[in-house]
Amino acid sequence: QTADLSGLPPGFIEYLAAEGIEELYPPQAAAVEAGILDGENVVASVPTASGKTLIAQLGMLSAIERGGSGGASTGRALYIVPLRALASEKKAEFEAFEAFGVSVGVSTGNYEADGEWLADRDIIVATSEKVDSLVRNGARWIDDIDCVVADEVHLIDDSNRGPTLEVTMAKLRQLNPDLQTIALSATVGNADEMADWLDAELVDTTWRPIDLKKGVHFGNALHLDDGTQRELPVERGQKQTAAIVRDTLDDGGSSLVFVNSRRNAEAAARRLADVVEPTLSPDAQAELADIAAEIRDVSDTETSDDLADAVERGGAFHHAGLAPEHRSLVEDAFRDRLLKVVSATPTLAAGVNTPSRRVIVRDWRRYDGTAGGMQPLDVLEVHQMMGRAGRPGRDPYGEAVLLASSHDELDELFDRYVYADPEPVRSKLAAEPALRTHVLATIASGFARTRDELLDFLAETLHASQADDPERLEQVADTVIEYLERNEFVGRDGDDLDATSLGHTVSRLYLDPMSAAEIVDGLDAAEGEPTPLGLYHLVSRTPDMYELYLKSGDREEYTELAYERETEFLGPMPSEFEDVRFESWLSALKTARMLEDWAEEVDEDRITERYGVGPGDVRGKVDTAEWLLNAAEQLASDLDLDVTPSIREARKRVEYGVSDELLELAGVRSVGRKRARRLYDAGVQNRSQLREADKSVVLGALRGRTKTAETILENAGRQDYSMDEVSPDESVRPGSD
Ligand code: ADP
Repeated sequence: QTADLSGLPPGFIEYLAAEGIEELYPPQAAAVEAGILDGENVVASVPTASGKTLIAQLGMLSAIERGGSGGASTGRALYIVPLRALASEKKAEFEAFEAFGVSVGVSTGNYEADGEWLADRDIIVATSEKVDSLVRNGARWIDDIDCVVADEVHLIDDSNRGPTLEVTMAKLRQLNPDLQTIALSATVGNADEMADWLDAELVDTTWRPIDLKKGVHFGNALHLDDGTQRELPVERGQKQTAAIVRDTLDDGGSSLVFVNSRRNAEAAARRLADVVEPTLSPDAQAELADIAAEIRDVSDTETSDDLADAVERGGAFHHAGLAPEHRSLVEDAFRDRLLKVVSATPTLAAGVNTPSRRVIVRDWRRYDGTAGGMQPLDVLEVHQMMGRAGRPGRDPYGEAVLLASSHDELDELFDRYVYADPEPVRSKLAAEPALRTHVLATIASGFARTRDELLDFLAETLHASQADDPERLEQVADTVIEYLERNEFVGRDGDDLDATSLGHTVSRLYLDPMSAAEIVDGLDAAEGEPTPLGLYHLVSRTPDMYELYLKSGDREEYTELAYERETEFLGPMPSEFEDVRFESWLSALKTARMLEDWAEEVDEDRITERYGVGPGDVRGKVDTAEWLLNAAEQLASDLDLDVTPSIREARKRVEYGVSDELLELAGVRSVGRKRARRLYDAGVQNRSQLREADKSVVLGALRGRTKTAETILENAGRQDYSMDEVSPDESVRPGSD
């Protein structure tokens, strides 16, 4: 090893060796060469699975070792992940460093919490939204960050989430001009521009630890990018994907199949498991059956059942609608090569380390509502999927395959993806919704006190460094300032800009100002006590809630419901003739209805069926509703509206998923919505009754689960919670789960 690795915690090199890392990969060595161990900024544009994480670790650990700003004995690092679902994964990975005295914390939780407890952690993992919100809430430890890592920084190009990452990086750099910035990117067309923006050294390479062959399957052959062809016949009645999976199995490998929707992922898993099943040994079958049982244990929804069914037969699906426990069971079993095929949507797979002998990119188009049809995927995205092929040390090489159904398509796919370079990353900051939020936050947290200071701040973003038309950002900024003024979030006095008290609240709550305006107007319009449905509808129609999609037939159903419950809505209903607005209002109603079902104790699998969503989606909507209702409660109290008790009740009901009478019971830890109902029906109706109740009744209601019963009684504050020698009261007839 030639590179000088001093500056790392003692024992780290040995730790790497134990992990099988004897030598730095060339991109890692290049990052060291570029000064990553000495506090230099580095942009690393490196293919998927080529060791970016270690580049980040080298930077973070040396920054910690070097000591903090203001004389602190150790430095502090912040690792920004692209998705909340990946935060715990990264945390688990970094926890290995606790052996060198490096502590790790993950900041998830509510947006408005300030996270002071993280102040003593050496490495903090968080999403960009979370970091942004911590900056808005003035969390002090943010000023003491010495090294920040932005993972998957090419996502700056994403119009939804990119601007937050971009603005957050700019803010952190303004807070601490000595901050070491490390940006990890997939290979993109313009890594040099990102390096310019961040005053960083550039490591830009296409090196990979394992050979990757790319190709397109057409007819009975696989056409590879080195010009060769290999025979890979598709039998009569067989699908292309199945034939390729079969061929990979014959070669002792596994396949990762990328498709464009959750439904397709589930259907493909079912079909591809048919291919795997006959090849499984009895041992493998037994191991898979164990995993399937674990999957069923997590929840008893249809998704869970479908997943377990596929897993028993050697296949699985993977998408963002899965419960986190399901995801990790699938990922682990695939990594251990117990599962031979996984069909996945690309959302999470990009960030999860799940290499596979073959990657099959089955769908290269995806439905895009705003573009009104199927749109081809970006080259960058397809290359990231392809990069998952091949596990060093285990596979001789990786192979990534697209599927063509005609000669023309064969040529097209080679041009479009195999031989193509990835797109450049372009800032999406100049869009109004993005600026609305970020301009308010920038003013409210004191980063800009005048229009000029605001423009100076915006000049530090990637957008400014890329803009061909610098005036456009200025124009949009002015439009946005006007909007914020009109809605009384910002006041202007000559050149000075200042957030109003309402504006501060909105910024701290991490609301899109447009959501806040919608909520404020709706609450203003309330006559009497709003109902839960009215409130769920109000928060569901804000831009912060991703509404459920209206399927055919839904329009009639929800129009009818709208008239039936007309008096409950806050604010006017748009006219049926305003097509687009009315549709979106109905989608919000569908979402609100789902939340109401949840709060009325409808079974989770009944809900997933009725609304055509996965269990992960139900939880996602419930979390968002809880957050927005909490925000509504604070807005109402700021504005002295006397609807806060109704909002609080609606929020608690959605939080626990129970009706009014169960709120107290469901609030006891480990009880939950189903057990609360059973206890209640057995006559144990609140916390104090839990403390006094006949133990055999409690045990009967909890279906004889001794351990659960003890935990619940203990959580309810009962001293003698032991269930020794207690037998369940047989007259209590709990319903089935
Ligand atoms: P990326 O973040 O670029 O997608 P990872 O950092 O997850 O890729 O690395 C992929 C795999 O390569 C990991 O399993 C990691 O342990 C391994 N790896 C990284 N660097 C080295 C190295 N220098 N030698 C051997 N294996 C390495």
